[in-house]
Amino acid sequence: MKIAIASGKGGTGKTTVATNLAMAFSKQGRQIELLDCDVEEPNCHIFVKPEFESSRPITIPVPLVDNEKCTHCGICTEVCQYSAILCLKGPVMVFEELCHGCGGCMQFCPAKAITEHQKEVGIVETGRAHTFRFLHGKLNIGQVLAPAVIKGVKAAADNSEIILIDAPPGTSCSVIETIRDTDLVVLVTEPTPFGLNDLKLAVDMTRALRLPFAVVINRCDIGDNAVKQYCTAENIKIILEIPDDRRIARTYSRGEIASTCFSEYADMFSDLAERVINQMTSRELFG
Ligand code: SF4
Ligand code: SF4
Repeated sequence: MKIAIASGKGGTGKTTVATNLAMAFSKQGRQIELLDCDVEEPNCHIFVKPEFESSRPITIPVPLVDNEKCTHCGICTEVCQYSAILCLKGPVMVFEELCHGCGGCMQFCPAKAITEHQKEVGIVETGRAHTFRFLHGKLNIGQVLAPAVIKGVKAAADNSEIILIDAPPGTSCSVIETIRDTDLVVLVTEPTPFGLNDLKLAVDMTRALRLPFAVVINRCDIGDNAVKQYCTAENIKIILEIPDDRRIARTYSRGEIASTCFSEYADMFSDLAERVINQMTSRELFG
């Protein structure tokens, strides 16, 4: 059972929901893994404080041109959708930072002048936190291929009963790579005009992918009622409302998890974990 915690924008409380839910599942004795796929800025580790056991590089294949064999036909430049290989008068130039490692240029080079070498774009670290397995990815500075690192994180997951994934914010290809094969997407939002705008984008994305989803409203007692009205009009289930509690902000700023500090939040997330499991196992799916 794969559950992604996502949001249309950053700073809505995605990590708060992911880490508290991980603790709740863990306390219920369920076999879970927490994956932080926000590879440009992973931060779940600050809260669950894992002991890392291994680190693995994530690489992509990028072209290497043998200019002795190259006939300057220009086919590789035509094939590349990312303008990452350029055939002009001199030697063929490869712009590795633009290359997506698709292998197209090598495939179509009639002179067999292209081979590949591996370029590191990030790492996946694996360890244990509390009673669960924890994994996260880190995109190397200056690299843009976050989806490659996200794939690496997901590929390193075991077959646990529950795989809980903290997704990157927004609706970019990184988010789609993270959520595309999940069984439930929890969209975290806040009741403000910005929150509503970005929730609508996230709902459109999740519907386009035909994924079951539900909404959590964080800091539910600020702002206005527009998010709730939108969810009602769109028949979207709101599965949790988290109050605007300074104690949560304080624990967050100290790198602590609210449900490990306050019993009412332990109960709140335990109840949420129970309801999510019951609804999913009874096939009364969200969305
Ligand atoms: S591997 Fe793909 S993205 Fe990279 S240069 Fe070749 S065609 Fe372009
Ligand atoms: S496709 Fe091959 S032969 Fe043609 S320009 Fe590119 S590297 Fe050279």
